[in-house]
Amino acid sequence: MAGDGPAPASRSPLGQARTRPTVTDQAAAQPQAVMGPAGARQRAVARQRAGAQQRGDARQRAGARQPAVDSAPEDPPERLRSALAGVRAVLLDMDGVVVLRGRPIPGAGDAVAALRDRGLPFRFLTNSSLWSREGLSARLSEAGIAVAPGEIVTALSASASLTARRWPGRPLYVLAAPDALREFDGQHLVSDEEADALAAAQAAGRMPVAGAVGPAAGGTAVAAVVVGDAGRGFTYERLNTAFRLVRGGARLVAVHRNRWWLTPDGATIDSGAFVRALEYAAGRRSFLVGKPSPAFFRAALATFVAGGVPATVAAPPAGDDGSGPASADDGRRASGPDPAAVLMVGDDLQTDIAAAHRVGLRTAFVLSGKHGAAELEACRSRGRDDLPDAVAPSLSGIVAALD
Ligand SMILES: [Mg+2]
Repeated sequence: MAGDGPAPASRSPLGQARTRPTVTDQAAAQPQAVMGPAGARQRAVARQRAGAQQRGDARQRAGARQPAVDSAPEDPPERLRSALAGVRAVLLDMDGVVVLRGRPIPGAGDAVAALRDRGLPFRFLTNSSLWSREGLSARLSEAGIAVAPGEIVTALSASASLTARRWPGRPLYVLAAPDALREFDGQHLVSDEEADALAAAQAAGRMPVAGAVGPAAGGTAVAAVVVGDAGRGFTYERLNTAFRLVRGGARLVAVHRNRWWLTPDGATIDSGAFVRALEYAAGRRSFLVGKPSPAFFRAALATFVAGGVPATVAAPPAGDDGSGPASADDGRRASGPDPAAVLMVGDDLQTDIAAAHRVGLRTAFVLSGKHGAAELEACRSRGRDDLPDAVAPSLSGIVAALD
């Protein structure tokens, strides 16, 4: 199936403007590991503590300076160069770093070209799920930012990788925009009508439940409902079908869980709100794929080693019944380079900076997107674990300071 209408921001060259406002989004961006059992919560806390230790070790190894505490939002040149010394690969958020409201940020194309000219490997790491990587590549190139599809890792591509690995050949009901569905090429996507019929048959006991294992699992029950940015495709009928499938045992996969975002038309509800609605109605928890999931960052790191192989995200344990891990971090970890030598550049202090810190990455915050000096100051008041290692007005300044 596919979304009926164009995405909310399709009028702009890049088709989207993921410049989400601060207060609501900050709340949405907090790690929302919806853990049921107390044991799972304890494991999550332990992982967070281990991540903090790893980050401290990484900074020490890299000789990175302590986070800035002065009043100026951006770092002076010397401090910036010191903070970025030893960076050997770069992860780039997209919205707010190279594009804003669907338009290229001045200097972004040249900065990306400079990374390429210097031989510094980079990947775009974005929660965007309106477009396939091919679609994003085409639109970025159209805007003067030359990026190959293999240099892009999206929450959507990671979701498609997850479903291909976890439920090969099994029916999937995917709520996403038309171009985004290209990421699922070769997988068994069911139409709205098929999904509705399967939900009814399952409710009537005419087929095995979706979570079944063994020979009976080879039936046609929908294995998972994947929720991305469907825009106007989020109709009542589709959401109700998705609800019935999840209630019947299909796994609920959240491409991301952002609450709302800004398009050229203003504040716009995002797919995370629909994920939460389905969780609430069905009494099931979703599996989070995109940022701030640590596994999403690790999957991107793994592509540096694999030479651009599409990202893979840890799958939930086999045989889970939908009440298991609520975050991609609960599964197997991907391999990758030393995170201390990899820089994450982002405009969101939670989903980019704090989340990257949790996996030991170096971080650079740019003031060209949705968060600015006020948010940085608020972040400082909460404690330095959330602080970026470097702050610059834009990507150009970051790239110029790399050694
Ligand atoms: Mg951003």
